Amino acid sequence: MERKLVSPVVIDDVQPIEGADLIEVATVKGWKLVIKKGEFKIGDHAVYCEIDSFLPVKEEFEFLRKSSFRRMGEQEGFRLKTMRMRGQISQGLLLPIHLLEGYTYQLGEDVSARLGVIKYEPPMPAALGGIAKGLFPSFIPKTDEERIQNLSADYEKFKQHTFYVTEKLDGSSVTYYLNEGSFGVCSRNLDLEESEENSFWKVAGKEDIAAKLAALGKNIAIQGELIGEGVQGNPYGLRGQTVRFFNAFNIDEYRYFELEEFTALITSLGLQTVPILELNYTLPASLDELLTIADGASVLSPQGKLVEREGLVIRSTDRKISFKVISNKFLLNER
Ligand code: ATP
Ligand code: MN
Ligand code: MN
Repeated sequence: MERKLVSPVVIDDVQPIEGADLIEVATVKGWKLVIKKGEFKIGDHAVYCEIDSFLPVKEEFEFLRKSSFRRMGEQEGFRLKTMRMRGQISQGLLLPIHLLEGYTYQLGEDVSARLGVIKYEPPMPAALGGIAKGLFPSFIPKTDEERIQNLSADYEKFKQHTFYVTEKLDGSSVTYYLNEGSFGVCSRNLDLEESEENSFWKVAGKEDIAAKLAALGKNIAIQGELIGEGVQGNPYGLRGQTVRFFNAFNIDEYRYFELEEFTALITSLGLQTVPILELNYTLPASLDELLTIADGASVLSPQGKLVEREGLVIRSTDRKISFKVISNKFLLNER
């Protein structure tokens, strides 16, 4: 599912910030953001741009230049990041609804194209690119996780479920599959031609993944996070690269394995799952509390050094509910 980066929203709440006269904090779904005092009232409609929005260079966005100007490849624009002002976390941007003048909008619809907003993507190192054999195969779902802030309307309902919690690793998504006898290696969006330079293929070779999948005698995919040298700045200080798995998928039945089935499979293949932090987990009273819980040290922190974890991925035991809770501490350190 593509992210809705920009959409018309209702302002759910506006509260003062202690010690600040000129700014207030607005709530939109599960997001908090700093606004100018009096700029919006509860119930107002506004255009909300999520973090990672890359806004075009246009007169109406020039006020962002000082805080947010960035290049992305050839393009110039304004990148929205998590910020802290007067101790208050601020995520995203609220724009006046009149930007959509003359257009009959629906609340929650994606209007990013209308405003020329695209997603900011950091540059990808060559070893994670390579030549595409094709698009991501249609018989496997792409890896993705929704942010809990966008599911805040369901939070109360989620509290009745039991979950398991894994650490969200800051690497690069990889899918290994065996389908009708052919082995494939995919990055986030592409099926990659075999290559000696490509890190996803290298790890496949090192871990003997093609043979391991072949031995299972069925059409299957396993999905994980490639971490290590040359990936996202290697926060865990690893030598070389490795992969930690978070999904197994039965292609013929078009279904994910449930937790027990999944861990049993990965272990039996001599591979590793992402760190599993909790089983039979129930959610804390509020989303704010859950966001605080997401902050913490990575269990992959090298000896003698605390690495701030990216966050958590929380899934119901039957895997029907799944979302990510990114650590705000992590986001505040992001470049
Ligand atoms: P966004 O949609 O928020 O812009 P994104 O879709 O590019 O971001 P991420 O924020 O990295 O990606 O979140 C989803 C990805 O997290 C998955 O595609 C997967 O590669 C990765 N991931 C890392 N650790 C885990 C984990 N423990 N469980 C599930 N996915 C994980
Ligand atoms: Mn996504
Ligand atoms: Mn990621």
